[in-house]
Amino acid sequence: MDYIVLDMEWNQPWPGSPSARKVLPVQIRGEIIQIGAVRVTEDQQVTDEFQVLIKPKYYRRLNRRVSKLTGIKESRLQEEGVPMTEAIERFHSWCGEDVIFLTWGFDDITILRENLQLFGIEENWVNKWYNAQMIFNAQTDGSNAQKALKTAMEIFGIEASRPAHDALGDAYHTALICARLDLKRGMQEYGKALKEHVDGFHGAELPGCISRKVFYDYADKRAALSAMSGKENKCPVCERQMLGSRWFAQPGRRYMDLATCPEHGKFLVRVRLSQQPEGTFRVSRLTYEATSEAAQAYSRRAEKAEGEENRHSHRHRKSRLPEKKEL
Ligand SMILES: [Zn+2]
Repeated sequence: MDYIVLDMEWNQPWPGSPSARKVLPVQIRGEIIQIGAVRVTEDQQVTDEFQVLIKPKYYRRLNRRVSKLTGIKESRLQEEGVPMTEAIERFHSWCGEDVIFLTWGFDDITILRENLQLFGIEENWVNKWYNAQMIFNAQTDGSNAQKALKTAMEIFGIEASRPAHDALGDAYHTALICARLDLKRGMQEYGKALKEHVDGFHGAELPGCISRKVFYDYADKRAALSAMSGKENKCPVCERQMLGSRWFAQPGRRYMDLATCPEHGKFLVRVRLSQQPEGTFRVSRLTYEATSEAAQAYSRRAEKAEGEENRHSHRHRKSRLPEKKEL
């Protein structure tokens, strides 16, 4: 078994151009114009390389942004590019049968599959794949952030020796990173890493956390928080709606509230809001036992707020006294 570290470049139609209005039999996010790949053996030695340029069939005009980013000129694609079916045939035979694909990010395999479907090419051979970014995160800082390849190289102290945004160059640098990861363990723990990624959680939660859940598609912050203190505010034991007390803001669009189930008592609810690329809000919610340290932090915060409010209302009363006199 070999690992195939894969990177591709793809062309997209210029918005509003005739190509952009084309309806294809299979919807694709981009038409592949370059495939670069590096083989890493099972014992993690970086070995041979593969590269091919593809002459686009559907989006023939090279998007100038793509051209600028990749340094590929339309004339070069016309001269050196081969048809997709031929490129895939060469690539597949170079890969061999028993391979596992590694990519930096989630896009490459998705786009490869779309392209294979569009060209009516069998796609089962790309079934086994992992996003090396996730393995990298799990084995370094445990973060959930999608790191640029350049950032990951810096973290590992790998000097760039190939051009960036060139399929083979990026695949080669990714292979150097992969060779330093524990790939076997990374693949075993991948399901967990993936779930945490999708859920938007990262790292271990604080002690006393008893449940976690993700909610999607709130129009704004207010809608998200009102759902969290309203119909989604459910007891982690019996699922009945709990009564919230009050949200306290914490740094980074985080909020906490102490909620009460009539039967099961108090729970601390912590939520984190994040705005999605299309503008809606996603909420990650963690529920803690009332005895947890996180819940105690809430109590301290609530006491402090109460103290401040008392002082404030005291001042307020005083300031009203002269008015009374006047009356
Ligand atoms: Zn309950």
